[in-house]
Amino acid sequence: MDRKITRNISQGMYVLTLDGAGCMVDAVSQVSYGDKPLISVAVNKDNYTNKAIKEKKKFALSVLPMDINGDIIETFGMHSSRDIDKFSKDWFDSVDGIKVIRDAIGCMILEVVDIIDTESHNLFIGRLVNALKYNDKKEMTYAYYQEHKDELIKVKTLNNKTAWICTICGYVYYGEELPDDFKCPNCGVGKELFEKKIN
Ligand code: FE
Repeated sequence: MDRKITRNISQGMYVLTLDGAGCMVDAVSQVSYGDKPLISVAVNKDNYTNKAIKEKKKFALSVLPMDINGDIIETFGMHSSRDIDKFSKDWFDSVDGIKVIRDAIGCMILEVVDIIDTESHNLFIGRLVNALKYNDKKEMTYAYYQEHKDELIKVKTLNNKTAWICTICGYVYYGEELPDDFKCPNCGVGKELFEKKIN
């Protein structure tokens, strides 16, 4: 079995936001048609944002363009909302009370209608209740991001805290030691692929 073929499933790059939490997601699909279609998004169960979606039942997806500021990907993709305030910069507009990325191609507001439990992720099925398109820029694909991530983002860590950085995806964990059963919430690798960084 050559599992690498799954990397050829084409996916985009999205910032998922709701009140007080947010993360990068790539596994987004339209699952039904009509004026208010259903959209699915997979979110890791260990992710702080996962619990927030289950509580609020409503979230936004901002569709990222190719020229998006890499700091936005770094903030939402490499850190947990437990550790940093992801909404402190001037990157946002508000749509239906949810902060969305102003420099995105557009955004979708989704209300959760179903939650499917899988091994590592929940699949949230959301009904599209509002949608805005800002421009005709080309969307960033996950494949493009993987190929160019070293140029696009520079991972930053908080001062005075011991950080462990995933050597595969750049996710940052804060703590003196990684738990033995730790798995990267972004890419799923174990603790042996994390490098310690002392600021
Ligand atoms: Fe990782």
